[in-house]
Amino acid sequence: MNTIINDIEVLKAKTTKINEVDFDNLKFGSVFSDHMLECNFKNGKWQAPKVVPYGPITLDPSAKIFHYGQSIFEGMKAYKDAEENVWLFRPLDNFKRLNISAKRLAIPELPESYFMDGLKALLEVDKDWIPKKDGSSLYIRPFVFASGNGFHASPATEYKFIIATAPSGSYFSGEVKVLIEEKYSRSANGGVGYAKAGGNYAGQFYPTQLAIEKGYQQVIWTDDNTHEYIEEAGAMNIFVRINDTLITGPTSDRILDGITRKSIIELAKSEGIAVDVRKITVTEVVEAAKNGTLKEMFGAGTAAVISPISGFGYKDQDYTLPKLDDTFASYLKKRITDIQTNKAEDPFGWRF
Ligand code: PMP
Repeated sequence: MNTIINDIEVLKAKTTKINEVDFDNLKFGSVFSDHMLECNFKNGKWQAPKVVPYGPITLDPSAKIFHYGQSIFEGMKAYKDAEENVWLFRPLDNFKRLNISAKRLAIPELPESYFMDGLKALLEVDKDWIPKKDGSSLYIRPFVFASGNGFHASPATEYKFIIATAPSGSYFSGEVKVLIEEKYSRSANGGVGYAKAGGNYAGQFYPTQLAIEKGYQQVIWTDDNTHEYIEEAGAMNIFVRINDTLITGPTSDRILDGITRKSIIELAKSEGIAVDVRKITVTEVVEAAKNGTLKEMFGAGTAAVISPISGFGYKDQDYTLPKLDDTFASYLKKRITDIQTNKAEDPFGWRF
């Protein structure tokens, strides 16, 4: 039966899979809710989105996504508070970044209402899938790809925009040991690093596998030119604490403008923590590790929020970070998740 929510047509699934899900033992992004939002670009425009049952999609083998990798995505979360209210965190920033990515990949930009009203309708239909347990949330994956056909290496004329959701537990368990990359890079000046393009992540897998074989969990990406500047941590932005100052690199062609990163910068500053947005050299991090002024390093991103780094490898040498009782990482993570889940005031207007 079709209904309308928020001007969005909803085609409900005949049965629900929710009873098969163990909400107390959720992994990250591995079970999917009953519905998805689907929106097609054809005849030169985005057609009205619909909420439809979650399920496989059929594509022609010549669909350009398979050959030229024209695909982009976003990652965001929905939370439920004790009163069953549903909250998003800075969703318009995800929408804007999706269109920044779209432009770079020659994908037609989406209208804001299709994204926001479609998302709200989807969450209304699947609200029972939003976990309430601390640390859990409904991970939301909006993505756009070239569904149009043809072997010609040029932008497709047809695209699909889908939002799928997955009730999820926390992303990383525990602290991670990272390897500072000396050879490979994930992005370059003039490249696609600032976009959330699927291919960026495919390109990270092999160097990350090599790091895992050496006993690390993640790669710290350095600049493609000199490998002397620390840029990102896996698929997260990176923060380094030297003495009592938090340092993170400035966003650029090569560094994704992370929503968690900019929230941490604003939050830390408002709490009186010194924040320096400037380039960080590998040399200064190694020096700080040696002379004891390196206090913390952590990754920042939607999935893990803040992921503490316990140590790093560089030029066949391992460096261990101190184990502090009170870290900026745990303090800031709690502050941000309290705002996200409506356990604390939100003076910034981030909660939606
Ligand atoms: N850098 C990269 C390369 C990422 O993929 C992500 C995850 N989107 C981030 C940083 C963190 O961004 P955000 O805080 O918006 O999730």
